Amino acid sequence: MGFLAGKRALIVGVATDRSIAWGIAQAMHREGAELAFSYQNERLQERVRPLAESLDSRLTLPLDVDRDEQIDQAFESLKSAWGQLDIVVHAVAYAPREAITGSFVDNTSREAFRIAHDVSSYSFTALARAARPLMQGRAGALLTLTYLGAMRSIPNYNVMGLAKASLEANVRFLAADLGPLGIRVNAVSAGPVRTLAAAGIAGFRKMHARVAEAAPLRRNVTLEDVGNAAAFLCSDLAAGITGEILYVDGGFSTVGMSFPQEPES
Ligand code: NAP
Repeated sequence: MGFLAGKRALIVGVATDRSIAWGIAQAMHREGAELAFSYQNERLQERVRPLAESLDSRLTLPLDVDRDEQIDQAFESLKSAWGQLDIVVHAVAYAPREAITGSFVDNTSREAFRIAHDVSSYSFTALARAARPLMQGRAGALLTLTYLGAMRSIPNYNVMGLAKASLEANVRFLAADLGPLGIRVNAVSAGPVRTLAAAGIAGFRKMHARVAEAAPLRRNVTLEDVGNAAAFLCSDLAAGITGEILYVDGGFSTVGMSFPQEPES
């Protein structure tokens, strides 16, 4: 029996079979969880539904996290279908493309700042509020995805780094508020993974190559690496962990300095 047997999870943020949310969904399915998926718009519905069905899920719901009425509607649908809910995975982020390239000072408009924080951080608070009634009396778990750009400057990541810093604070404040109800809140800080969202960040290829060169494990992380850690954090195996940011990055964030490998002679 898997370590998520009997758990019901909503997965928000599958765009393709390369999405981090998809890696998490696969790990959770393998460990016995029953899954529901959301999709942002009609175009994505066509992609998400077959993926959901391949993991025995018949529950796919429209959910643009920008829109409060869609959040309410999605959780109403979950309530009708399941009554209760154990896990929410929030794997959503967005910033206008011009803001995640080049100069941070020049390219961070008020509007780009607002959008990045609204979609990438506020949405986690909104989902937590909507999930809370369905998690009453359950060992609930909320999980989000963050990146090292919350803690350190990274070329081109710009306003998204600020939004991730907000998201990480969000994890701690939600954990404090929801802990007394038995709901845990954590984040995985993943190393670079080639996804649609990553393709929008200027210089992503260089970031990817740099990590493989400098990380202690000398490689980038896989969807499986991130999925397994996320599944663990949302399971009762992690019952004592909340308000935590868990790095799944091959150790890159722990390195102060490294030298390129000398070729062996
Ligand atoms: P992805 O496959 O492109 O997934 C991002 C998802 O966010 C997409 O499904 C996207 O839908 C969705 N989204 C954006 N705006 C939304 C909205 N208003 N409402 C609902 N959904 C919305 O990329 P990913 O890399 O797996 O990203 C998942 C999470 O991991 C993000 O929080 C990202 O910052 C984080 N992360 C990624 C990396 C990396 O290197 N890839 C590293 C660390 C953390 P659309 O495609 O329709 O916009």
